[in-house]
Amino acid sequence: MKNQDAALSRPRSSELDDILGLNFPVLDDGFIRVIDYMGTDSAIVQAARVSYGAGTKQVSEDRGLIRYLLRNRHTTPFEMCELKLHVRVPMDCWRQWIRHRTASVNEYSTRYSVAVDACRITQPDEWRLQSDINKQGSGAAISQELGERLSKEEAKLHALCKEVYTGRLDSGVAREQARKDLPLSTYTEAYWKIDLHNLLHFLALRMDSHAQYEIREYARIIGSEIVSKWVPHTWEAFLEYRMNSLSLSDTESRVLALLVEGKKAEARQLLYERGWLQANQALIKESREASEFREKLEKMGIPMPW
Ligand SMILES: Cc1cc2nc3c(=O)[nH]c(=O)nc-3n(C[C@H](O)[C@H](O)[C@H](O)COP(=O)(O)OP(=O)(O)OC[C@H]3O[C@@H](n4cnc5c(N)ncnc54)[C@H](O)[C@@H]3O)c2cc1C
Repeated sequence: MKNQDAALSRPRSSELDDILGLNFPVLDDGFIRVIDYMGTDSAIVQAARVSYGAGTKQVSEDRGLIRYLLRNRHTTPFEMCELKLHVRVPMDCWRQWIRHRTASVNEYSTRYSVAVDACRITQPDEWRLQSDINKQGSGAAISQELGERLSKEEAKLHALCKEVYTGRLDSGVAREQARKDLPLSTYTEAYWKIDLHNLLHFLALRMDSHAQYEIREYARIIGSEIVSKWVPHTWEAFLEYRMNSLSLSDTESRVLALLVEGKKAEARQLLYERGWLQANQALIKESREASEFREKLEKMGIPMPW
């Protein structure tokens, strides 16, 4: 059999090779470590330029091509790269993580083995109040005094759950049934393999400020400690065009154009006409879209028109 490209070598990322198998600690007892990977920035470029062959362009052009692909949502070249992680995550956080269906997963089995003997412990200064504005989110930190009480209660609850679980196992109850009252704070472990396109989607959703703090911590470390080293051009483009960018709807861009022209009253009028604002006596009521728009304007340092 004739080798069509004898010079072909396996793309490697020396920076990622250096951290292969190293544990990155997350939360109090979780971790992420890279088990394996396929491809690099150059594999993305090579896939995009399949008709030209590798090695015909300069690094600066590679960076430009990656930025073009990401900016214009040409996604398939990013699917040529894959990352396999070993993760240790509290079950409540894992429940959010596992919703990302485009990964391949093997999770530690608590039917086959005794559950991981560790729970996510919340320190007194880590408890968060329910957010007033976001029904799904957290607000300010809880007072130290209350935090201390909550952490003590948590420790008692963890100890009781562990005692009941191990008692059931000692009595011969099947592991698959004994586990049913383990707390959601129990750590689980999994191998998680995903292609770079879907990994970036995961990171965009889970690094976002609307995601829960715990999963955000995992996403932050995957992004800043792993992806940034593995595919630096892609990471840079992802931050530029996805993570730190703003997208504007039709209404938002029209209102912004009016604001740039100094037509504040017209901008406000348009928001009323489109139902984004409602006047309730002296109060102005914002729709959810209006408050999201306000966040965008704040990011750009533009005063609100209402
Ligand atoms: C801040 C936040 C709050 C959330 N709140 C809730 C909640 O309250 N309740 C809840 O149930 N979930 C909630 N989720 C989970 C969310 O709805 C998604 O299930 C999760 O983020 C996975 O996203 P995904 O489907 O895009 O990712 P993946 O499953 O990785 O899929 C990636 C992409 O592949 C495509 N795809 C994958 N599978 C299919 C399919 N079967 N059919 C068509 N296209 C497919 C889609 O384009 C999808 O975007 C929340 C997520 C976030 C980030």
